[in-house]
Amino acid sequence: MFTLHGIPASPGHAVARIHRIIREETKVRRRDLVAGEVETEIEVFRAALNQARSQISALVARLSDQLGQDEVAILDSQLLILEDELLVDRTEERIRTNLMGAEGALHDTMGDLIHQFDTLEDDYFRERVLDLRDVEERLLRRLQGIDDRPLQLPTHPHVLVTGDLTPSETASIGRTQVRAFVLGSGSKTSHVAILARSLGVPAVVGLGDQLAILDNANLVAVDGETGEVIVEPDSATIARVRQLSQKQITVNAKLEHLRDLPAETPDGRRLGMLTNIELPLEVEMARAAGAEGVGLLRTEYIYFQHQTIPSEEEQLAVYREIIDGMDGRAVLFRTLDVGGDKIQRYLGARKESNPFLGWRGIRFLLANRPLLKTQLRAVYRAAAHGPTRLMFPMITGVDELREAKELCRESCDELAAEGLDHDPGIPVGIMIETPSAAAVADLLARECDFFSIGTNDLIQYTLAMDRLNSRVAYLYQPLHPAILRSMKSIVAEAHAAGITVGICGEMASETKYAEVLLGLGFDDISVHAAQLPKIKQVVRWTPMPEAEGLLAELMSFATADEAVRHHESYLEAKKRRRNEGTGS
Ligand code: PEP
Ligand code: MG
Repeated sequence: MFTLHGIPASPGHAVARIHRIIREETKVRRRDLVAGEVETEIEVFRAALNQARSQISALVARLSDQLGQDEVAILDSQLLILEDELLVDRTEERIRTNLMGAEGALHDTMGDLIHQFDTLEDDYFRERVLDLRDVEERLLRRLQGIDDRPLQLPTHPHVLVTGDLTPSETASIGRTQVRAFVLGSGSKTSHVAILARSLGVPAVVGLGDQLAILDNANLVAVDGETGEVIVEPDSATIARVRQLSQKQITVNAKLEHLRDLPAETPDGRRLGMLTNIELPLEVEMARAAGAEGVGLLRTEYIYFQHQTIPSEEEQLAVYREIIDGMDGRAVLFRTLDVGGDKIQRYLGARKESNPFLGWRGIRFLLANRPLLKTQLRAVYRAAAHGPTRLMFPMITGVDELREAKELCRESCDELAAEGLDHDPGIPVGIMIETPSAAAVADLLARECDFFSIGTNDLIQYTLAMDRLNSRVAYLYQPLHPAILRSMKSIVAEAHAAGITVGICGEMASETKYAEVLLGLGFDDISVHAAQLPKIKQVVRWTPMPEAEGLLAELMSFATADEAVRHHESYLEAKKRRRNEGTGS
């Protein structure tokens, strides 16, 4: 028995054998040919070119009416690269003259082209470098016969171990036999971790090279609270882990009586308790937890479950299912937020060198207006069937908000002209998740109906820490003075403008921050369903002066560490008092 240590990313415990997926990476496999192999190798290369061309042409045919012109132009330019004589002839020449295998020949030819483009000053050519890299990756995958099909998982209970999973892969796993995720990369706020929490599956991430030791024969005990992965646990450890999961079930059962009670402090301050969901299957969990509504529907996962962009009618059907399921409680739709770690090739998204600073959220949507309009139409139509709100991700300033709202108006005008049932009056808000939006919160508040703070991104961008990079995960510091100040001023600006402000980042789902959020004055908080009862319980125990006093103390510190230490001693003292039965 030995223990690996990672970042605890989704609570819960599990014991099962592992299923390890080792990714076939598109590394260039170089080999030397003998003269007799040349013609066959050239045939292999041409076949890969043809397959890549048909893949891209099929994408263009399917998506040209949804994606913006620029995105279709990108795919078209990749087609041109595949036809380019420089690429084709020089690769074939290398195969023939240097007796190189196709992969090495392709890589060297691409290297030359990229070098030529890279040295040009012109931005246009620099951009083409991304296309060249993308085309090379696509061709290498074809040459290596790498399958782009979804993951194939065992049908027995297992712990899924792999270097990384994309959010769309995680969404496709849904509720299968996966008992826990153990991943090499990621942090608490990577989207895989968030989805694992939503699905109620324990996860430990950021294990890096430690995974190399594991193979499919291993039995592991995963502790999603401490980040421990115990390999070949002895019987005492297995019993302890099973007991811990049983304890969790008991805690949840004990809190069941809270389900229909409001999240109200003893002195009468009421907080809206909402849930974050990604997939329709979570509606049931949201209701069972007593959610008063959905405070963040990450609609991108609905797209990820389709092989291509879902049509307006397809979206309408899913949105209605969610609205009907919430039975009169409002659903907050966030428009598609792709980019960052949520790239989906069929949407034309590409690998970028700084993806979280790149083509993401509202930037992607405004560049792909037909796609955004399709989604807006579906949301406005679904809104005719129950209370609905709408918000936009990654807003950095008023101009983006105005453009997005203009598209809302256009969509409603079209629906009215077509005589389709819809509700044009739904509240329209924005996520505040960029430092820029935080800085101009007063200007934004004048032009929208509500704010929702996305702390995952607000912390990432404010503290300049990549939310996927486990090396800088320690900088995820919700109590950092920069974050507390930023949130306090966003709340103040929202209230000064008479609009409501909520929070839907992962910080809200951590029970330990409930008093801090109360002190900050949020109107509603949106959390994972599994966390909702515990957080509601804390709210019901905490008078406002206590929460405000705590916040004032935390904000008096110059460093996050000092604030964390003070916060921990506050929580310990509170726990002691409760155990002794002497008050809040
Ligand atoms: C956030 O950034 O806090 C948020 C809720 O959005 P996402 O995690 O989907 O980026
Ligand atoms: Mg975000």
